[in-house]
Amino acid sequence: MKTKILLIYTGGTIGMAKDYETQSLKPFDFENLLKHIPELSLIDSEISFTGFQNPIDSSDMNPDHWVELAKIIEKNYHVYDGFVVLHGTDTMAYSASAISFMLSGLQKPVIFTGSQLPVGDLRTDAKENLITSIHFASLQENGKPSIREVCIYFEYKLLRANRTTKISAENFDAFASPDYPDLGESGIRLDVRTNVLRVEDESVDFSINTNLNSNLGLMKIFPGMSRSFIENIFATQNMKVMIIEAFGSGNIFSFDWFKELLRKKAEKGLLFIVNTQCAGGMVEIGRYETSEIFKEIGAINGFDLTTEASVAKTIHLLGQNLSSEEFKSQYEKDLRGELTYLKQY
Ligand code: ASP
Repeated sequence: MKTKILLIYTGGTIGMAKDYETQSLKPFDFENLLKHIPELSLIDSEISFTGFQNPIDSSDMNPDHWVELAKIIEKNYHVYDGFVVLHGTDTMAYSASAISFMLSGLQKPVIFTGSQLPVGDLRTDAKENLITSIHFASLQENGKPSIREVCIYFEYKLLRANRTTKISAENFDAFASPDYPDLGESGIRLDVRTNVLRVEDESVDFSINTNLNSNLGLMKIFPGMSRSFIENIFATQNMKVMIIEAFGSGNIFSFDWFKELLRKKAEKGLLFIVNTQCAGGMVEIGRYETSEIFKEIGAINGFDLTTEASVAKTIHLLGQNLSSEEFKSQYEKDLRGELTYLKQY
């Protein structure tokens, strides 16, 4: 029996066309995309299409769009064997990470892909990315989908969505998973590394969680950051969580005024998450004296989370109305394969 795959088009370069007045790329409709990939009819799967009514450049994505996407998957979950989401590359890693947290009991593949050049371009990477994503989504073993998690497929690599980050604005090889092995590779054959795939508990029914809350801040620190800039950021109303992208293993400047500011904010209930600016390795609070302040204020350890996964996890957990203790304990747990620092491969 043919596998049934649903393509969900949200926008992005893959389906864009040039506006000849302004010379800039604008999202275009789905028919245009299909017209350029007649090869889709040769694929040995039954492919259906749906998507956002108004496709967008992914820079305009926000949590409302994630909800829309999760609902499309929920509505079609039992009808299809797999889902391929066409999405702009700019915020793909954010959306794909968010979807990984919003879906529970996932037993089917949800593969995000896009392209660096529009589908109508002679040298486009759209065809390979789309066709191979559909192939990966169609893989089955003993009548069950081989891949049962949210992934990003791009330029011959299948990656875990919430371990992935965009690394290039121009190379076809635009995404990497710096701290977790690639899940698969496309060569003459499609190679899936089953030992690193996520295995979700089969007794958990599929469901979506659309409660999200974006009352968070994200601050990348740098040497010479001015006091007034920092104080202004911390004066933001209603901020519940501040993610700090610290140096190295979670270190930060040790000015007295800064430490005092963190203490005051923490006392008032602001939660701090510490991530590292490094692409590899993880946060170890307390390893250096310059991270002691984080220990003192009970900051949450982001370990080796990508920025994208960290933001998405925060927005998801803030939406669950947890107590500070519960939030911290959930955040430091591996919920969807986004924290893998303890495992060996
Ligand atoms: N700005 C585009 C987007 O993210 C870039 C792309 O698709 O590659 O929608």
